Amino acid sequence: MATADPSYVDPPRDQPPQVEAGRPLVLTPTPLEPAPRLSQALGLSPDQVWLKRDDLAGLGGGGNKLRKLEVSLAEARKVGADILVTTGAAQSNHARLTAAVAARAGLNAVLVLAGDEPADRRGNLLLDELLGAHVVWAGELEGSDLGAGLSARADEVVAELRQSGRTPYLVPYGGTSPTTAEGYVAAARELEEQLPDLSHVVVAVGSGGTMAGLVRQLGPTKVLGVDTGAVADPRATVAGLLAEMGRGLEPASLRLDHDHVGEGYGALVPTVREAVELVARTEGVLLDVTYVGRAAAGLVAGVRSGLIRPGAKTVLMHTGGLPGLFGHPALG
Ligand SMILES: *Cc1c(COP(=O)(O)O)cnc(C)c1O
Repeated sequence: MATADPSYVDPPRDQPPQVEAGRPLVLTPTPLEPAPRLSQALGLSPDQVWLKRDDLAGLGGGGNKLRKLEVSLAEARKVGADILVTTGAAQSNHARLTAAVAARAGLNAVLVLAGDEPADRRGNLLLDELLGAHVVWAGELEGSDLGAGLSARADEVVAELRQSGRTPYLVPYGGTSPTTAEGYVAAARELEEQLPDLSHVVVAVGSGGTMAGLVRQLGPTKVLGVDTGAVADPRATVAGLLAEMGRGLEPASLRLDHDHVGEGYGALVPTVREAVELVARTEGVLLDVTYVGRAAAGLVAGVRSGLIRPGAKTVLMHTGGLPGLFGHPALG
């Protein structure tokens, strides 16, 4: 019996002209800006806290996923893919940026997202649609590991696409693999040039690739990861990635702050809201409450606990994510 093509098979997009094909996705180096009023509000000298603006990285609204997607897109091209498939939470920044990368590369995108189709499309979902991606709703998933639950559905989508004659490429959950995390090795090298005497880099940990890349280059003592609740065991996740990247280390040597997860990934945590307001009101820079707000809360707590000492140059990684603020259930 002939089966109809799945509804998410859109006609192929036109490939970009040859001259455009090698255009980088990320405009590097991304700016490193001082945050003097934030520094002073924390009781530090004005030249102590800096913002690494990967939210300004390039297309699709910017964010950390672009450095990883650059690696994925090269891998997809190598296998002749004409459609990108990836997974995420309903408000996934990674899914939105995969949709943007696909549009620019002349590929289609299918996003397998957790949950059921909502009545209204807000935040990242609105942008996914504007970018022309097709969303497949995976329904409510059992268990705490979102990535594992979604990957079974994504495998089915990939198989169905193959059957209908397409060449899909599956971009991993959160965009993270040992090869894509190399994108953040490059970001760490930029930081070494921009701020040679840096002592701390504070970063939100989701699927772990961003922290792994930073630690691969800077070592475990300079990087403070702030858990967002996206994966069950971020320490094991990041240590596992590092082992596959050729830098095995004692998982206990990784610095992680678990104090801003609250009730879980989707929660609006009071310390996070305070930190988001502090950065907005001192620097005029906007952060989301799922990722960068949590990193900022970790930075504030690190200063208060004495972990970040007066004089120690500290970088807050602004990894993007602002559209998620407009889709956050607790902020509607
Ligand atoms: C995904 C994401 C992170 C975390 O990056 P991982 O490499 O998945 O750990 C941080 N900030 C924002 C805004 C993100 O979207």
